[in-house]
Amino acid sequence: MIAKLSDYIDNNLDEAMYMTVKNHASTCPQCTIFLKMLQRTIDLCKYLETRPLSESFSQKLSKKSWKTL
Ligand SMILES: [Zn+2]
Repeated sequence: MIAKLSDYIDNNLDEAMYMTVKNHASTCPQCTIFLKMLQRTIDLCKYLETRPLSESFSQKLSKKSWKTL
């Protein structure tokens, strides 16, 4: 089941499988802990990834404001 948890976090499961994993995780302490760890790792990755992204986003914003001027 743990193998399915990363797919669950990534939203790579169909609805039936998603619900199966969700129901299992709510009753399985091991998977709950694993999910929390996984989510924390992903949040950290997202945080690190958004730093260069937010830079290009502000660049886009400044370009846009140039057009509107
Ligand atoms: Zn489990």
